[in-house]
Amino acid sequence: MPFINGKLMLEHALANRYGIGAFSAHNAESIQAILEAAEEKQSPIMIQIGQKVIQSIGLEPMKVLIDSLAKDCTIPIAIHLDHSRQYTQTLEAIQLGFQSVMFDGSALPFEENAAITKKVAEISKALGIGSEGEIGKIGGTEDDITVDEKDALITTAEEAISFAEQTNVDYLAVSIGTAHGMYKEKPDLRFERLKEISGAVAKPIVLHGGSDIPDEQVKSAISLGVAKINVDTELRQAFTRGVQEAFKEDPDNYVLADTLGAGKKQMKLKVQEKMKVFGSSGKARKLLQSISHEREVIIS
Ligand SMILES: [Zn+2]
Repeated sequence: MPFINGKLMLEHALANRYGIGAFSAHNAESIQAILEAAEEKQSPIMIQIGQKVIQSIGLEPMKVLIDSLAKDCTIPIAIHLDHSRQYTQTLEAIQLGFQSVMFDGSALPFEENAAITKKVAEISKALGIGSEGEIGKIGGTEDDITVDEKDALITTAEEAISFAEQTNVDYLAVSIGTAHGMYKEKPDLRFERLKEISGAVAKPIVLHGGSDIPDEQVKSAISLGVAKINVDTELRQAFTRGVQEAFKEDPDNYVLADTLGAGKKQMKLKVQEKMKVFGSSGKARKLLQSISHEREVIIS
């Protein structure tokens, strides 16, 4: 099971202009959906553990579950901690052997965010783990944001450059007009700003709120330096719809393996759809070859 430093994974994606899907997992079946999709498409992947599932299942149980379910996989995988707002939680993930962690200090004043992110980046680097920081605020987790608010949230090139320099974090989440959740209006990504930021910081850029963005916009973002695209909402929708359909078809079937299995099937298809858009299908072998000389990066 080739678990790979998230930094090397994203640097390969950036250099070869494709995107790594960072897919959120919420239970065993969703982990299987992501792994099976990736294995079939021979795509490198990140599996994200977010704050919701940490509350419901826990950080360590999810890590153990992924390790176990991925043991026969051949594709490069990085287990990623998403939107950690606590330094101690970020350290816990590092200690548990995650291959990638995000400390999200975007709600903090700039200096405080930069200071903690810098510490996380230092520790991660020493251990061969990728680190992500966030500068600029990405729209609310559930509610959509209005155009005015969107304007106010766009990351400036100056703050991105200064944050990247001060923290030396491996990859950068910036706000270029995406929001978490589904969009009421078609999103309008700020490509000029993205180009400016990615050109100046020369690090992989992370696109949060990757659900429901038109495919063409995602492809353009990848061509301009986005190397990691977070996808959650659309996957949960696919999973839930699969479960709902199974119940509709046979309301008396209480075999959870059947109903959750139907959810898994729909989610798997959605993951594969995304891999096609991101251009990551078929990239597993190339990625593994490109880092094979750096044996220490493979943490297994
Ligand atoms: Zn996010």
